[in-house]
Amino acid sequence: MEESDEEGAKRCWIYETIVEAQDHFIDFFMKAREKAFYDAWRSLEQAELSLLRLKQHHPLEEAYCLGLMAKLIPQFQDIFPYAVFFSPGLVIRKRKCSICGRVVSAVQGCGHRKGYIYQGRFCCHIVEDVEPLEISFVKKPAQRFGVPFKVKEDGSAEDHYNYAGVDYVISGLRSPFSDWSYTRTKRRHPHSRYTDVSPNAPCPCGSGSSYEECCLPNKEGVLRPHIDIVFSEQPPASLPRQAYSDDWSPSSAGHAKVLSRQRNVKPRANLDPDM
Ligand SMILES: [Zn+2]
Ligand SMILES: [Zn+2]
Repeated sequence: MEESDEEGAKRCWIYETIVEAQDHFIDFFMKAREKAFYDAWRSLEQAELSLLRLKQHHPLEEAYCLGLMAKLIPQFQDIFPYAVFFSPGLVIRKRKCSICGRVVSAVQGCGHRKGYIYQGRFCCHIVEDVEPLEISFVKKPAQRFGVPFKVKEDGSAEDHYNYAGVDYVISGLRSPFSDWSYTRTKRRHPHSRYTDVSPNAPCPCGSGSSYEECCLPNKEGVLRPHIDIVFSEQPPASLPRQAYSDDWSPSSAGHAKVLSRQRNVKPRANLDPDM
């Protein structure tokens, strides 16, 4: 390609980035199918970051499923059980321009602008010297790779999250590019599901009150988070129309409330109003 063909080079970058976003998104889907959920999550985040770079130079339109991915990525993120993330606070001592390699700072630029495309390359700053200041837990991090896991006694991490919600949606989808939507509500679960909970134990609804002072007197049951899923294509017949998921137990009630949200999902494709 001619050195001077900025437009042509930029078009190449756009198509490369589209393929990159699709690759990450498909990768997310395949890993989630294999139930490698944290790996899937990372691919999903990479797809999001690819689209974020792309968006500055190309509309996220219908073609190449860009608009669909932009719609589905936050939905998938929302049904993952992760609620808080590590967010490192950093002091950056030295950063370089990815295009010309010159050291840049807040006062001294190099002429290249972050987020622009130069000769088909995306301009960003490469951090070379950094000092970590602190790590905080946040609900909305700049990037979502820092998921906290429980640590086992031998020091290794244990994936203690309940992925029932995302597993259910993935099992109902025909392909990564099948559309779906959802609504969050609450619904009463029959008391028969909670016979092992003593009346003075914390209520399974997560209110913090005791079972007998909270949901137990209600004839219809325990109020639980619920998600209605609408699949645009008929889900496989093997998919149950309703799925329950409880990870509440007296011993882990404290964690369960903060770190995992329990779900109960149903494809509305063949909704029975009595269910
Ligand atoms: Zn530069
Ligand atoms: Zn309750």
